[in-house]
Amino acid sequence: MTVSTQRSLIHSAEETMMPTLSRRQFLQTLGLGAGLCVAPNLVRAATTRQHVIVVGGGFAGATAAKYLRLWSNNSIDVTLIEANANYYSPILSNLVLNGQRSLSQLAFSYTALSQQYGVRVIYSSVTQVDGNNHTVSLSNQQALSYDRLILAPGIEFLPITGLDSNIIPHAWKSGAQIQQLQQQLAALVAGGTVVMSIPPKPYRCPPGPYERACVIADFLKRNKPGAKLIVLDANASILVEPEIFGNAFNNTYAGIVQYIPNAPVQEVNSNTKVAMTPMGEFKGDVMNIIPPQRANSIIHSAGLANDATKQWAMVNPLSYESTAMAGIHVIGDAQATGQPKAGHIANSEAKVCADAILRLLTGAQPYSAPVTNSACYSPISSNTASWLTAVYAYDPNTKTMQSIPAAFGASSAASTKNYSKMFDWSTNLFADTFA
Ligand SMILES: Cc1cc2nc3c(=O)[nH]c(=O)nc-3n(C[C@H](O)[C@H](O)[C@H](O)COP(=O)(O)OP(=O)(O)OC[C@H]3O[C@@H](n4cnc5c(N)ncnc54)[C@H](O)[C@@H]3O)c2cc1C
Repeated sequence: MTVSTQRSLIHSAEETMMPTLSRRQFLQTLGLGAGLCVAPNLVRAATTRQHVIVVGGGFAGATAAKYLRLWSNNSIDVTLIEANANYYSPILSNLVLNGQRSLSQLAFSYTALSQQYGVRVIYSSVTQVDGNNHTVSLSNQQALSYDRLILAPGIEFLPITGLDSNIIPHAWKSGAQIQQLQQQLAALVAGGTVVMSIPPKPYRCPPGPYERACVIADFLKRNKPGAKLIVLDANASILVEPEIFGNAFNNTYAGIVQYIPNAPVQEVNSNTKVAMTPMGEFKGDVMNIIPPQRANSIIHSAGLANDATKQWAMVNPLSYESTAMAGIHVIGDAQATGQPKAGHIANSEAKVCADAILRLLTGAQPYSAPVTNSACYSPISSNTASWLTAVYAYDPNTKTMQSIPAAFGASSAASTKNYSKMFDWSTNLFADTFA
């Protein structure tokens, strides 16, 4: 695949806003059309119905469940096990904080997956995975067996001494937590101080915390004269889009934002609302502490957190099959391929994984040159946004996904045009995942 084709991929995600693709169209977009005629026929030739279980109905798991049914022509059984009946998108959730979106606009059900695509949806939590016997146990006492298992459970937070996230929300999984933070900001006293923290990388959505700082500052600027926002960054500098976010902190929100790098939160007093860091202690009237992150607990209890830090799951990027346990695939934020922990690329990984599983179920091998792409839009104010895109391709020498430098793209400035395109992009991503 040439670089210019990669560029057209970015173009396609931005301009055509990622329409729902058939498997053939998807692989043709990636330049993979040639191998395509084989797998669906082989799937049809199978004598017994195969069963794939997907755990977690976020951007990764919901996409995988949908496309496994779609691309197999409904010839395999797919069960999605999800803890909650409604999914609240973290994408765009910062806009709840400055009143540009309501939580209900970010809520998605699994009705289309079940009724339109025939995915069997079970609302329960997987409590145990037995990779040797190919079974999962559920909190509702059910046990199910699988031919292939996809784990897409997202993240969990590492503890910070004294932090009670029921009092000081992280608001990093959307839903009730983002609503709680929005209510706390709305009730901020005149001239009050907000303290928020940015965790050390890797964490969910690299630009997300900087975007949040801008959105909170926008809210304070418009609604809370004299209020301040202290941003405690565990990292040494702004990790992504440094010019755009730096400009926002120093100019757009001058006098409001105080950005402090090298300030990991080591301890919190949740009652007095004080955060302790190597750069000093910071007290807020409202606090938003986003703790360090790792793969969700089911990855750990299943023995799949085998990267160098023992926090994330190593996988073969051709199929997303775990390197610790055959037959189990890990996609989305929980995986450790070095690709960003983000929803757009989780959707992309899910399609590569679904295609690989359909091939593996027939005894064929996964496609040998997968390509994924990522896109993040960041609201900078109530009517401007920036964006960032990247394309990753499989490198057979290192057996890893590598970013293609020439295909990297970023906006030069925040603009109202980007702000409006952000909703086109997210509407298509949401539809491709849940509708
Ligand atoms: C403020 C913010 C802005 C963002 N903006 C962008 C953006 O612009 N672009 C972008 O690409 N990404 C963005 N992201 C990141 C994106 O939201 C995440 O990367 C994405 O949600 C990850 O998808 P996932 O499916 O891996 O995990 P999740 O979305 O967390 O889904 C995991 C699901 O698994 C379920 N689950 C967990 N454990 C179990 C279990 N044991 N049994 C059953 N179910 C279980 C959970 O209930 C959950 O529904 C943003 C994130 C935030 C916080």
